[in-house]
Amino acid sequence: MTGRPETLFPLFAGLETLAGVGPKTAALFAQLHVTTPRDLLFTLPYSGINRALQPTVKDAILPATVTVAVTVGVHRAPKNRSGAYRIHVEDSETSFQLVFFHARGDYWQKQLPTGARRIVSGRVELFDGIAQMVHPDFVVPEAEADDIPPFEPVYPLTAGVTQKVMYKATRGAVALVPELDEWIDPGQCAQANWPTFAAAVAAAHDPKGDADLALTAPARERLAYDELFAHQVTLALARQKERRKKGRSRTGDGRLQSRILASLPFAPTGAQLRAISEITDDMASPLRMNRLLQGDVGSGKTLVALMALLRAVEAGGQGVLMAPTEILARQHLQGLQPLAETAGVVLEILTGRDKGAERRAKLEALARGDIHILVGTHAVFQADVIFHDLALAVVDEQHKFGVRQRLELGQKGKQADVLVMTATPIPRSLALAQYGDMDVSVLDEKPPGRQPIKTALVSTDRLDQVIDRLRAAIAEGRQCYWVCPLVEESEVSDLIAAEERFKRLRAAFGEGIVGLVHGQMPPADKDAGMKAFQSGQTKVLVATTVIEVGVDVPNATIMVVERAETFGLAQLHQLRGRVGRGSAASTCLLMYKSPLTETGRQRLEVLRESEDGFVIAETDLRMRGTGDLIGTAQSGVPRFCVADIERQAGLMAIAQSDARKLLNDDPTLASGRGQATRLLLWLMRQDEAIRLISVG
Ligand code: ADP
Ligand code: MG
Repeated sequence: MTGRPETLFPLFAGLETLAGVGPKTAALFAQLHVTTPRDLLFTLPYSGINRALQPTVKDAILPATVTVAVTVGVHRAPKNRSGAYRIHVEDSETSFQLVFFHARGDYWQKQLPTGARRIVSGRVELFDGIAQMVHPDFVVPEAEADDIPPFEPVYPLTAGVTQKVMYKATRGAVALVPELDEWIDPGQCAQANWPTFAAAVAAAHDPKGDADLALTAPARERLAYDELFAHQVTLALARQKERRKKGRSRTGDGRLQSRILASLPFAPTGAQLRAISEITDDMASPLRMNRLLQGDVGSGKTLVALMALLRAVEAGGQGVLMAPTEILARQHLQGLQPLAETAGVVLEILTGRDKGAERRAKLEALARGDIHILVGTHAVFQADVIFHDLALAVVDEQHKFGVRQRLELGQKGKQADVLVMTATPIPRSLALAQYGDMDVSVLDEKPPGRQPIKTALVSTDRLDQVIDRLRAAIAEGRQCYWVCPLVEESEVSDLIAAEERFKRLRAAFGEGIVGLVHGQMPPADKDAGMKAFQSGQTKVLVATTVIEVGVDVPNATIMVVERAETFGLAQLHQLRGRVGRGSAASTCLLMYKSPLTETGRQRLEVLRESEDGFVIAETDLRMRGTGDLIGTAQSGVPRFCVADIERQAGLMAIAQSDARKLLNDDPTLASGRGQATRLLLWLMRQDEAIRLISVG
């Protein structure tokens, strides 16, 4: 497959090839991201105007758009230039006026001569008790009645592109669509009652009524499915390519795993055991593992990762665990190193702070295989970091990394298995769109004994009361996080806010009780700040969102978030997940600046009502829309033109299983349906997929 199939050439030609579109209009269309007739096909009308011929305007509930046949009566020119030019007309039952401003009388004398029959269509309204149609949308002789669409589609527009131009251009584009072989599973088409692609495009641009504009109208649903299916085929191709890469079967005797499990004060949850066994199976298979471990904050992903890393070591290989921040990498080191030691496993850390001789020594030990497990920041993927035999790469809090970094990850070890972990409880539809190329394990069960977190909304006006409350909690030996607001885009002003708050709280609680960490601190200070809090030396930790992910201090039971209304719900949920980790009851205080907007309050109330990350994410998605939730461009989730990822999650799931099945049955897309699917990929501009087929 070297180039775009010829059948599609007309659809990818310039817009000027369409009747009624010149270079000027084409430039206007470009603002709508419409540069080819193909793009017009997927720009669908969002509503419609009923222009079916009526006998009279008399029965219409005005104002309304009406189409009637009329006999033209007398013309009345205005007395001065700024007045209205009026033409009296009569339909079958009543009379009304056509009204034109800035009109040239001689023009209308010619177009609408008194006594002639015409069909007019436009908005009729009452003015001073007289029905009038100002500037009709259509005025045609009766013989040309067909020029008026009985149900006129209404398109999304920018300034300059009128509905008429859009109407004409889309008709032109639809006419260019050839009959194409079917790429959708025939059973699916039949069951959903979907038309062919060509028929679907034609019908979607020619709705007969409001029902045809619905998401569930067969033509529109089919086009939505085409988009989703093309995307899922792309992901399935990526997955197939990953899986085809030879992996190595890594098995172990469970010796290290059981030794460490025995040393833990708790037993793994059912969900953890399930995930561990799914991962173990993947690692034992000769295919390369590419698995996502999804689990809400506090669900215990680290233990699952550790078990997988130990399996890699048991099999004679090495493992690496990459965290998004220095703080998290250090925390993993502190949590995991003692465990590793009990099992005789060597675990080391490597971050950007390692320099000179020390770094060199670590790298040498790593290359010799003397370090079994390496934890670190993205520094572990620098070019000169060479493993003796990397068997497994784990990425923690993957949502903090871009999709590209995820894809690059597999490169480090020659045949390394890859496990990525995320606490972002994204809704299923988005997960399918974003991670459709991976296999997924879900930790849907929290470790037992956790107490619910009480969440309250508090106005910033009541700061003093909050401080009093903290003072009482500290007296009882409890600890508290205090997250400062994201006031501006700039980190500098965040910093000022955090430092001011730090001073204020230090004044309230006394020297040595309050700590501060933020992104711009020298690394050593940051470490010291975290350590002082972890060890219980400081009782209050003022922070910017660097503590958002993963930090684990079980004795901390209060989370204060200032200006909570400026945070995303998922982020607040993450922050709240920092407390409620021990057995004591925990509280989360969401401080807002009044007055809060109605939606602002509703959003925060979602957090008060629910502790279920998935419920929160679904609500966030509904309230904010897909793009905002995860930043579409960097998340790798495409913008769909027709499909509504929020409301068509079911279709997305079908598309995924259908795409995977197709590639399973026909890995090279050589069959008839496979060929048709290739054409779909071209049609849908799935360049990535096309590249994958070309090289594969
Ligand atoms: P996350 O999924 O957010 O990364 P962690 O792995 O940090 O969660 O685990 C959160 C806390 O739960 C840690 O203190 C960990 O020791 C504890 N934990 C993990 N698994 C269990 C379990 N099965 N039973 C009890 N506590 C557990
Ligand atoms: Mg974690």
